[in-house]
Amino acid sequence: MKAELVRAIEVLKAGGVVLFPTETAYGLAADARNPRAVRRVFEIKGREPEKTPPLIVSDREMAEEYVAIDPVLDSLVAKYWPGALTVVGKVGKGLARDVVRHDGTVAVRVSSHSIARALAKGVGAPIVATSANVSGLSACYSVRTFDRQRRAAKHPEPDFVIDAGPLPYRKPSTIVMVKKGKVIVLRQGSVRI
Ligand code: AMP
Ligand code: MG
Repeated sequence: MKAELVRAIEVLKAGGVVLFPTETAYGLAADARNPRAVRRVFEIKGREPEKTPPLIVSDREMAEEYVAIDPVLDSLVAKYWPGALTVVGKVGKGLARDVVRHDGTVAVRVSSHSIARALAKGVGAPIVATSANVSGLSACYSVRTFDRQRRAAKHPEPDFVIDAGPLPYRKPSTIVMVKKGKVIVLRQGSVRI
């Protein structure tokens, strides 16, 4: 494993925040079980705590450990994971309160970016994977863009940065949930459903 990946995992395990690349845009990662780490993400982003961040897991098994995925979503998950499909489900035990929405749900995906998956695998738990941008501004496809936004807003900086260079422009993940046995698209993104 590359040295910077090893270091990033150490930082996450210690409760730090890491700027990292995904298959959509850059994201801010933290151990989703650690309330203080999650709060730091909100500070860096300048986000209101009511807006819960989505999570990235290493594989479906890890997702099922923490989130009840409705069987109605089975075929979509089988088709699009790893990839930019985020599913919303009832939360199980072990995650920080701030990643759980008022209705008791969390949003999760298996990323198709190998670095994103490796971070979750290394931590051994879901990582927060909110888009890296100052709240209200557009998603960042380079470390430089994020840095510019963050400095202008005078927000604290992440503890570690994995710079994978400029990322190709891609829409955010598509978000789905199940209501009364039907799939509802909450956000139409990279994956067309
Ligand atoms: P961001 O944190 O900016 O990357 O955006 C994440 C998106 O996921 C937002 O549109 C949130 O509303 C959505 N989201 C996060 N958690 C949930 C959830 N539990 N249920 C529905 N949508 C969610
Ligand atoms: Mg966003």
